[in-house]
Amino acid sequence: MGTAVITGAASGIGACVKARLKAQGYDIIGIDLKGEAISADLSTVDGRQSAIDKALDMSGGKIDRLVLAAGLGGHLENGALVARVNYFGAVALLDGFKEALAATKGRCVVIGSNSAQMRTDPKAPMVEAMLEGNEAKTIEIIGGFHAAMVYGHSKHALTRAVRRRAAEWGELGISLNVIAPGPTETPMLEGVKEHPTISKSLEMIPIPQKRFGRAEEITDIIEFLLSDTADYMQGSVIYVDGGTDAQLRPDAF
Ligand code: NAD
Repeated sequence: MGTAVITGAASGIGACVKARLKAQGYDIIGIDLKGEAISADLSTVDGRQSAIDKALDMSGGKIDRLVLAAGLGGHLENGALVARVNYFGAVALLDGFKEALAATKGRCVVIGSNSAQMRTDPKAPMVEAMLEGNEAKTIEIIGGFHAAMVYGHSKHALTRAVRRRAAEWGELGISLNVIAPGPTETPMLEGVKEHPTISKSLEMIPIPQKRFGRAEEITDIIEFLLSDTADYMQGSVIYVDGGTDAQLRPDAF
């Protein structure tokens, strides 16, 4: 089947994707803080580069499937760290693996979030700084903000960064799409539920299907996006959120 690289492979959605692709016969290269083939801290420039170098070495420069799942939640105090991992870590690895994906005409799925369009200002200075690729400016703008102020913006900018690459990458034969889950039962969501105040905002999110998602359900759609069946999809943003986005933004698509 070839080689699949998965960030955030040690937990939650990334771990579920890893199990699924392993069962399909892929050689898996997991990247996470610990417990995977490659231990790397994607919040740092050195950690990102080391992850890229090691994965390219282990894969022989040919990657068939890439899933970028590593991320931190909006319940953390440190908003700057969330921007570093969710935006700069993801985009660095995306770009770092471009040639290796082109070598196989491979497929990539980036995990965004339905919060990317919830109360996010597309012209927010932190979003513009992220899209400029200016990490120092982004961190300066964020200052001491709680991650609740940053998480949605980091996923908004990440989704746009993917969309901006989709045309050129499509011409190279690389499939590149975003999945936008709603709240999904993983250790990250447990952290949100346990937070004394952020848990309240979770309760305010309308979910027409009246339940949180399961990692297996998100993985089902990732598996589809990684398959030949999704061949004509490029730059798509797929909401898998029990209807939340449609309820909040019925006239936007
Ligand atoms: P999780 O916490 O279970 O897994 C995230 C993984 O990312 C962990 O293994 C963690 O160690 C890794 N990670 C965090 N910081 C890292 C760093 N600096 N370097 C390397 N790895 C790091 O969370 P999850 O819910 O499975 O989240 C997976 C993705 O889905 C994330 O991008 C998240 O933002 C997104 N998402 C989750 C939900 C949800 O409700 N669970 C909803 C929408 C989007």
